[in-house]
Amino acid sequence: MSRILVVEDEPTIAIALQDDLELEGYDVEAVSDGLSAEARALQGNYDLILLDVMLPGKDGFSVCRALRRAGMKTPVIMLTAKTQVADRIAGLDIGADDYITKPFAPEELIARIRAVLRRAGTQNAGLQTVCSFGDVTVDFERYEAKRSGRAVDLTALEFKLLRVFLEHRGKVLSIDDLLRLVWGPDVFLTDRVIYTHINNLRSKLEDEPARPRYLVGVRGLGYRFDG
Ligand code: CA
Repeated sequence: MSRILVVEDEPTIAIALQDDLELEGYDVEAVSDGLSAEARALQGNYDLILLDVMLPGKDGFSVCRALRRAGMKTPVIMLTAKTQVADRIAGLDIGADDYITKPFAPEELIARIRAVLRRAGTQNAGLQTVCSFGDVTVDFERYEAKRSGRAVDLTALEFKLLRVFLEHRGKVLSIDDLLRLVWGPDVFLTDRVIYTHINNLRSKLEDEPARPRYLVGVRGLGYRFDG
């Protein structure tokens, strides 16, 4: 299921968008200002962002530009007002993938979303190379992790484990899931080994490793990445 971040400050439009998209089977989250949009987009693993131009805090163009500058490749569709003709062109210049003029029919928007997702799916499947949560930033291409700007030393296995968690944000992964996704189907390990790796990651990335905020244990089920 594709995850869409809706950024729209007009509540009626935001609610209508959310309803239309959920009806189409998309997993939708909504924010109503530019600054939260930027923070959420950088942290969440979205497949697409619907971004209004006129927003409180930071306008849609600046948000889009900041995301692209941060190396984020998630497709962006700008929502522009009818009069913002010059804006449309600027929107494409700053790295947006498409734009749609308000007011628009839901069918038209859905068609645009499908087209953009289809294009994106063939270009970059999976996680973007740079991810962040809290004060941690991880670059999976360069194998670099930083916490509050300082380098954190992660082993190759810890990078892999973290990547699997980030690819499944908010979902509970059982020990079997982790074993299969991180080590592969033919490897046999005791649960203890996996706990140890998770605890090591916690001690490197969490403020209070004993009370983790991100790598959360779910009693009897496994682990879930929150954030
Ligand atoms: Ca607006």
